[in-house]
Amino acid sequence: SPIILWFRRDLRLSDQAAVAAAAAEGPVIPVYILDDETPKHRKMGGASRWWLHHSLKSLDQHLRDKGSRLILRQGNAATILADIAHKAGAQQIHALHHYEPWWLNAEKHLRESLADGVELILHDGNYLLPPGAVTTGGGDPYKIYTPFWKSVRERMPPAEPTPVPQKIDTPDQWPVSDSLDDWNLLPTKPDWATGFTKAWTPGEEGARANVDAFIDKATRYDEGRNLPSAELVSRLSPHLHFGEVSPAYVWHRVTGRGRQVETYLKEIVWRDYAQNVIWQFPQYGGESYREKFRDFPWRDMNDAKVAKDFEAWCHGKTGYPIVDAGMRELWATGWMHNRVRMIAASFLIKHLLIDWRKGEQWFWDTLVDADFASNSVNWQWVSGTGVDSNMFVRIMAPLTQSEKFNAGDYIRKWVPELSDVSDPYIHDPEEHGAKPASYRSKIIGHKDARARALDAYAVVK
Ligand code: FAD
Repeated sequence: SPIILWFRRDLRLSDQAAVAAAAAEGPVIPVYILDDETPKHRKMGGASRWWLHHSLKSLDQHLRDKGSRLILRQGNAATILADIAHKAGAQQIHALHHYEPWWLNAEKHLRESLADGVELILHDGNYLLPPGAVTTGGGDPYKIYTPFWKSVRERMPPAEPTPVPQKIDTPDQWPVSDSLDDWNLLPTKPDWATGFTKAWTPGEEGARANVDAFIDKATRYDEGRNLPSAELVSRLSPHLHFGEVSPAYVWHRVTGRGRQVETYLKEIVWRDYAQNVIWQFPQYGGESYREKFRDFPWRDMNDAKVAKDFEAWCHGKTGYPIVDAGMRELWATGWMHNRVRMIAASFLIKHLLIDWRKGEQWFWDTLVDADFASNSVNWQWVSGTGVDSNMFVRIMAPLTQSEKFNAGDYIRKWVPELSDVSDPYIHDPEEHGAKPASYRSKIIGHKDARARALDAYAVVK
């Protein structure tokens, strides 16, 4: 009988344990289900849907090159899988582990819906280690990153990546499939994704090309990763999020190239750490982990002035060049440099005193790498509301950060109103009398914002 191969955020054929296991067992029915029901309000945002469309197209082509194909269905994943398995007479469904709370629920529901003797078999491999694989001396999962990193590092390197299976046998009969174009995952009018097409090549091949392009840069990662103008980061996050490449593959390709690469490996482990946090605290994306912040006096979004400030942040019109450059890069390409993500997030939370969850939701909708774990863990890290240190009172000065990390060229690229402003005025043109009339004044002064944030913090402290 055929084997069902269930794809989720693991859209690759190489180093994919579920693909290898299914291909070894018999004829395979590869399935992807667009499920907007199971994740509820966490259904994929607009930018992710753009990526998904292209990634599925690429995966289907890759399968066709092997004589197979991808079956597409839309609806409740557990119900549909049980139905496909029943009709095909399949005894096994193979898939990779995922740790978003809605997937854990769906797996439970699926197991309950399967006929006796039909199994759901889950494999590891989308992370370096499964959550809970390393524990503190007391046997508990880690909450803090640094000891987590040290424990993971001791267990590395990961196993050598495995190749694409030689053969993927086809079933006698294919189940019905939707057509990808009918899913309308791409924007129509206005097409806000023209910049995405220039910036990215979704799919396994594009992911590997990105790894190739990064190899030489990896030896300068430590010195360059905080400089938004330098373009020395790997831009692998959407490829890793959609599982077009495994972290083990990335690890083996970059490792052993000197000291600076170790800093890169630490970042890859941040991705594992984020999974480890949401696996322990499934509510992490929806509420502040530290209880006292649940009553924090955020500004009220029903107030028109606050809603206007939020809009200004979303669209890169705050009058803070580094924040505006980041938010416009995000809108144009679906991605933002990590240092700038930290500055922009801190600005929303502390300068505008807007609930971090509003920013997290905007990122969820606009990032091509929008990831439940990485997004909520990083937002809670910046806001100081999370499992690690309370950073609320560490209020980043965006203009100083911009200067320190030499963001001039980055700002000139993304904020055309400032393209003729030179260093050092570019970081704070208003202060230096260099602000062109076309660029807006600061939405709020740094000192006033800082004082307001600290006053608000005093309420919950
Ligand atoms: P590189 O610097 O080349 O790092 C390599 C890989 O390591 C990344 O691709 C990513 O998979 C992982 N990584 C690096 N930094 C982090 C980190 N801080 N946390 C978790 N993984 C990390 N990353 C996402 O993948 N999805 C998100 O939704 C997301 N939201 C974020 C929100 C905020 C407010 C902040 C401050 C950071 C967020 N990040 C998120 C983390 C980080 O900014 C991106 O992973 C990184 O910028 C991606 O670019 P890169 O691939 O060039 O990273």
